[in-house]
Amino acid sequence: MPTKPKTIATPTVDKSILIVIAGAGGFIGGSLARYFHDKGFTRIRAIDKKPLGDWYQRVPGVECLCLDLSLEKNCRRAVEGAVEVYQLAADMGGMGFIEKFRIECLRSVLINTHMIESAYRAGVDRYFYSSSACVYNTDLQKDPNVRALNESDAYPAMSERGYGWEKLISEMFCQEYWAERGMKTFIARFHNVYGPWGTWDGGREKAPAALCRKVIAAKDKGETTIGIWGDGTQTRSFMYIDDCVKGIDRIAHFDGLIATPINLGTSELISVKDLVTLVETIGGVKLARKYDLSAPKGVAGRNSDNTMIRQILGWEPATPLKVGLRKTYAWIEQQYKLRKAGRKTVE
Ligand code: NAD
Repeated sequence: MPTKPKTIATPTVDKSILIVIAGAGGFIGGSLARYFHDKGFTRIRAIDKKPLGDWYQRVPGVECLCLDLSLEKNCRRAVEGAVEVYQLAADMGGMGFIEKFRIECLRSVLINTHMIESAYRAGVDRYFYSSSACVYNTDLQKDPNVRALNESDAYPAMSERGYGWEKLISEMFCQEYWAERGMKTFIARFHNVYGPWGTWDGGREKAPAALCRKVIAAKDKGETTIGIWGDGTQTRSFMYIDDCVKGIDRIAHFDGLIATPINLGTSELISVKDLVTLVETIGGVKLARKYDLSAPKGVAGRNSDNTMIRQILGWEPATPLKVGLRKTYAWIEQQYKLRKAGRKTVE
């Protein structure tokens, strides 16, 4: 049961302040821009290096800039006049991407280094950083029946090579900008996020989207087999996008969490095999499974220990996987049909 949150006042946020969202052409950043817009914020600046036509979502009334944030001068421009900064830009993807492109993942440190310094120089009030469960010590994730990871499990450090280490050092930047320079920073460690408007094809997609797409394609093409990466015993938890953006807002506006990394994920653990069964049930189909043991599969098991978020915020992501997955499947099916008809889609 959630315990009573600590009584640290949550500030009332003036909805006319300038909010900057980096990485807003992608999945979570785009959804965050929509979330703040729908909440009534009137000045949102969204930034991504992708050309505007390739952004997953464009929210009406939001200022959209195409800038490469690995360059310091662009970061200075990005945060001009900002009161709050949400840093979600990163070169990232699912296991297929982060196991293969470790250099690209590590180079995201340029974005974080320049963005946080620029935010500090611009006098930003709150700086949010999107970290990942990939910072956790991989030695603790060798068993599918994994103990859920709590915030202290990042040290002694043995993060995911490349991507995880970059996240860990960028977390440290956030902590030191508070300790040495007094800028309020907030750090959430996301556990797999899924939902509509997420990457669903092209090599950067994550397991829920990839499996939805495979089931949809198999039905469409009359195929009877589905390919699965690994032996299907790997376990994970998956957070629905609506919970993710709500969690970002709560964490970034709670002063009891300044410079304190916190899990943002669900604690509903599921194996890849069971995830496939869930997607098959949604799609109304049963497929033969072909396990690819040489494909990237990541750690054996990973789950989020939500004790801290429950205690501190009296809240945790709670959308059941089968509810979120149903909405995601429907959205990917729509995207699949659009692509088949030669129309533009999110990928
Ligand atoms: P995404 O790939 O959909 O979005 C990231 C965006 O950053 C992309 O649109 C990309 O073009 C942009 N970007 C990359 N390099 C840039 C640069 N140099 N300048 C400007 N923009 C740049 O990914 P997402 O799923 O929305 O993830 C957002 C953040 O959350 C990332 O930091 C990611 O590491 C973190 N995260 C995501 C998950 C997840 O499950 N999706 C899990 C853990 C952490």
